[in-house]
Amino acid sequence: MIGKITVKRFLKRTAGLASSCGAAVATPPGGRSACILVYHRIADLPFVDPRLDDWNVSPVMFERQVAALASAAEIIPLADLPARLAEDRESRRPLVCLTFDDGYANFSSRALPVLLHYAAPATLFVVTDAVGREGPMPFDAWSLANAGRTTEEAWRPITWNELEQCMSSGIVDVGAHSHTHRNGLASTRMQLDEEAGRSRAILVERLGESAGRAYSYPYGSRRLGQVTDQYIAAVAGAGFRLAVTTDLGMAGPGDDLLALPRVEAHALDTPPVLRAKIRGVLAPYRLTDRLRRAKRTAPSSARGE
Ligand SMILES: [Zn+2]
Repeated sequence: MIGKITVKRFLKRTAGLASSCGAAVATPPGGRSACILVYHRIADLPFVDPRLDDWNVSPVMFERQVAALASAAEIIPLADLPARLAEDRESRRPLVCLTFDDGYANFSSRALPVLLHYAAPATLFVVTDAVGREGPMPFDAWSLANAGRTTEEAWRPITWNELEQCMSSGIVDVGAHSHTHRNGLASTRMQLDEEAGRSRAILVERLGESAGRAYSYPYGSRRLGQVTDQYIAAVAGAGFRLAVTTDLGMAGPGDDLLALPRVEAHALDTPPVLRAKIRGVLAPYRLTDRLRRAKRTAPSSARGE
């Protein structure tokens, strides 16, 4: 039987080919817009689990992707995005922000050296309750199933010391990806206040005020009810200035700064595919986006998105 991950990868590869072909003839949306890319894990994995998505980009592919972005785009800190989108002039090159969800130690060991080489700023969103844990993150289904078959680097949560080192590089911002990775779909306002408020308080206490500015909603889909008006209000109330979802799209000047869409950077994205994505050629991905299902991301079915 063909695993669902095999089918998903086939669909994403096909969408990538379609977008890179389309980019040659399509006119990207006009006006000022930016592409906020989302990564998760950056590791060498010796296998593909056909049942569970690893949300991984290999270090070799990651380096190719960042090299392509550095030459084709202007990579800016997420914190600078509102001001850049409000400028009168259009950028000569596409604007790109790099974000990483969940908070793996491999951000520090694998992604950061590449980011430093290309002077590419990035934001790392951590689950505050998972920072420094000895085992896999409790919501990370892939790691819970596969930690025994891989090196620690594939799944280990980042530590507070490593976060401080990342910040001292001068190109990394740290933000919150909630306190426990609770799914907003089945949460009360009190629980959402707790996820947002507690994660911000811990980040500010451990890393300083600059670490509590941006938030990434776990699972992150407005369409699937994982990001609601209540959740956005909780994030605003906690003091965050910017927040990102996993809704597919380019960020524009009129967008709600507490619900900015993003675009997944996938393991199979070659430089031409990625260049098409950051120019806003996203139509081929609408189908795979529509195939996402809320039931697979409900709290009882953990998934490390
Ligand atoms: Zn996540």
